[in-house]
Amino acid sequence: MSQPQRPIIALLGNPNSGKSSLFNHLTGLNQKVGNFPGVTVEKKLGYTNIPEQGTTEVIDLPGIYSIYPRSLDERIVAEVLLDHNSPNAPQKLVVVVDATNIKRGLLLLTQVLDLGMPTVLALNMMDLAAKAGVSYDFLKLAQKLGVAVVPINARKGEGIEALKKEIANAKARTIGSVFPIWKEAEAPIQELRKQLHLDNDYEAYQFLEQPQSLTFLSKDHQQLVDTIRKKNNFFPGKFQGAETIQRYGFIQDLLNEATLKQADYAWKNFSHRLDKVLTHKVWGYLIFFSVLFLVFQSVFAWASYPMDFIDGLFADFSSWLSATLPDGALTRLFAEGIIPGLGGIIMFVPQIAILFAFIAVLEETGYMARVVFLMDKIMRKFGLNGKSVVPLMSGMACAIPAIMATRTIDNWKERTITIMVTPLMSCSARIPIFTILIALIVPDTKVIGFFNLQGLALMALYLLGFVAALVSAWVMKKLIDVKERSYLMMELPTYRLPKGSNVGLTIVEKTKSFVVEAGKVILAISVVLWVLASYGPGDKVEKAEEYVMQETANMRLTEQGFQDRVAAYKLENSYAGVIGKAIEPAIKPLGYDWKIGIALITSFAAREVFVGTMATIYSIGSAGEDDENTIKSRMQAEINPDTGEARFTPAVGLSLLVFYTFAMQCMSTIAVVYRETKGWKWPMIQLTYMSVLAYVSAFIVYQLLR
Ligand code: GDP
Ligand code: MG
Repeated sequence: MSQPQRPIIALLGNPNSGKSSLFNHLTGLNQKVGNFPGVTVEKKLGYTNIPEQGTTEVIDLPGIYSIYPRSLDERIVAEVLLDHNSPNAPQKLVVVVDATNIKRGLLLLTQVLDLGMPTVLALNMMDLAAKAGVSYDFLKLAQKLGVAVVPINARKGEGIEALKKEIANAKARTIGSVFPIWKEAEAPIQELRKQLHLDNDYEAYQFLEQPQSLTFLSKDHQQLVDTIRKKNNFFPGKFQGAETIQRYGFIQDLLNEATLKQADYAWKNFSHRLDKVLTHKVWGYLIFFSVLFLVFQSVFAWASYPMDFIDGLFADFSSWLSATLPDGALTRLFAEGIIPGLGGIIMFVPQIAILFAFIAVLEETGYMARVVFLMDKIMRKFGLNGKSVVPLMSGMACAIPAIMATRTIDNWKERTITIMVTPLMSCSARIPIFTILIALIVPDTKVIGFFNLQGLALMALYLLGFVAALVSAWVMKKLIDVKERSYLMMELPTYRLPKGSNVGLTIVEKTKSFVVEAGKVILAISVVLWVLASYGPGDKVEKAEEYVMQETANMRLTEQGFQDRVAAYKLENSYAGVIGKAIEPAIKPLGYDWKIGIALITSFAAREVFVGTMATIYSIGSAGEDDENTIKSRMQAEINPDTGEARFTPAVGLSLLVFYTFAMQCMSTIAVVYRETKGWKWPMIQLTYMSVLAYVSAFIVYQLLR
């Protein structure tokens, strides 16, 4: 029977529960007073702004104790609730309940819930309840009631933003009705529902119960209700006793579970004392940064053992495959493309598992709420959330688990910005590039007595990434035009011991979703990159050995030296090599040649591949990636044919360092952003802005220094 109209929110509750106070906070001066049609009952109307919904009309209804009204005022409410064609018919309800008088308030709430309307419970007077030593487990209340519960203080206007947010998401209770309509009333109810097209049992029951509130019904419909009542021997009040008993029974069970007991008070007290330290303006931050440091250490250092193990396992498996299967394109696809690609996915599992073990514990214990409390003010300035600190810090180990960790941020805009800037934090994959390039261009000397210059350079790069992340976040805060304000909770939850099963579940769920969903993309890209680096136009890659044999006929090469040259020759003539050469004009202004160009392309798989590619291209692949000195001296010896001087001048080195600080050279990050934002839009924006930032910065650095 409902008709489309502008959304209306009605405030409903017992007299003196604080409806008018809440109404004033919601609407401010934006209100007007009118009358309900036909009666001289004051109707207060106003407008408020609801997230995602915009300007919305709010009605402050007269206070009632139950849906069965006794006075004229109260009858208005029943009519507003039952007459869907009334211009006052609300789409959503906020039931205001006085927490110091909770049973009475909840009685009304359970009746409203059975009408099946989207509802939010605003638990008011929480300050008075706290003084009286009463507190509730809001989560439990919400769970059993099947609707959102928001603690508010309508006098001071606390909790209003949270309430608005819940109003935006308000849904009807879906877990059955509190009062199952008695079997004997079943027949008239179903008959009435069919005749009047009502979509709810309890609503139809009200039609039978409350003839005095049905003034909006036509004569014919009145007649119909009357006939059905007579036919089924139904008279008003028949089941009211049963209903009240049933409802209070439900409420008592609910409160038994959700009221925090005496023992909880001791715990609450302890929790409170703990907070004096953990949210202290000095100790709080010190402790928080120690926790962060521990998280960082574990993701960074501890995870490396299982990661190395997995790496070795896949490497062994792929060598075994090449050795066992007959040589051919398919074998190589598996041994060099697919298996290493799978290894590249499974590799991340230890980091993800460890990071989420920490995050689950931080969330479960209630410590994360303190982190928000501590960091929100600072992070908010940059469009980030207090919780963004955890992903940003984890991003210094690896952006993959870090980006997944943003899921704890429930504000969409703040979460998106955190995802977008986290890859700017210098991750561990940049370390091999950083160390080798720094060793090339920064002298190994001490400054001011004891600071190692190379160490300082490394730190400067980390800082550069961090500052870039903050600045980019600030810019995005200005650019992303969403007025979704997140709110601070009024009350910090009490500390709890984490539940092992919850922690375990989080770890399994996150790991699985990464492996399955981001894994697909990583595997696809790694196979494409493998094809690019292993095949080329013409027969040069295929017949590389013959060509190199001709070229080096006069040289006395060791077998290993010969193989290294073959590998270099293959890479140079592969599609990756062709592309590297093709992009040379574009990267020349940054100081790079086609050899670096090839490394830029292959290292799109992961940044650290840069070093390996350089080694292959300089025909020293067999020296091993660990043998930094060999690669370093080879790079030092490389001559730029245009200038006749060293290729890796300080200008080129710095340009590369800056490039790798900013560039999104990591297919796994793209895959995980795709997974987390559920689409290609954000990963593509991210790839673009980071590449532009990297290119422009490297360009400026090179042009200034050369
Ligand atoms: P209504 O009858 O439901 O409209 O209730 P009112 O908004 O008129 O509030 C009744 C009284 O309770 C007023 O004196 C309010 O100032 C007071 N009040 C409302 N909310 C709170 C609250 O959260 N804490 C306290 N201490 N008083 C409140
Ligand atoms: Mg009032």
